[in-house]
Amino acid sequence: MKKKIFYVLFGLVLLLALSTKVDAAKPPRFSGVLSQGVRNIKYYIAPSASGVAGYIDNAKHNWMYTGWANPIYMYKQNHNWLSNIDAHGYTSSGSKTGGYVEFYDNNDRAISTGGRAPNRNYYYAIIRFNMHYKNNSYMRDRIPRHEMGHALGLAHINDKTSIMHPSVEGGPRSVDRDASNKITDIYGW
Ligand SMILES: [Zn+2]
Repeated sequence: MKKKIFYVLFGLVLLLALSTKVDAAKPPRFSGVLSQGVRNIKYYIAPSASGVAGYIDNAKHNWMYTGWANPIYMYKQNHNWLSNIDAHGYTSSGSKTGGYVEFYDNNDRAISTGGRAPNRNYYYAIIRFNMHYKNNSYMRDRIPRHEMGHALGLAHINDKTSIMHPSVEGGPRSVDRDASNKITDIYGW
């Protein structure tokens, strides 16, 4: 009988520890986010990224945590006029980077390039995909979802369970609950 109580108590402590960890895993936001919010995002895929277009479209449909209320609406257009997220491709066989994001204001001026974090709100983001990895399995899900997280305003987090961990190896392929919740924190309803 005493033994049983110990296990019940241990179970509770473990459960508390796990839920605390989940709460601590929300990725931080950048100092700038999409100025027009996430309710009507227009996105465009340039011919240079057409090889991963299907994966980008899939990331759009699956960005939020499964079953979670989702404030994001993304609309695909076939031109980049007034678009908020553009996808372009480049090829670099000597780099381990699968993609990175650049941020611009509404006058096409760069706020930050080369994957650096934006320090103020941005009108649109350009995701640059390394087409050298277009057949890598992570390009099917994790890479487009991770880069889209940046384009939505999320920074990296040193937590292997997050889509926003900087390394693809062993990380989740789907968007985690905490990253989803962070978007709601940032943009509200
Ligand atoms: Zn990243």
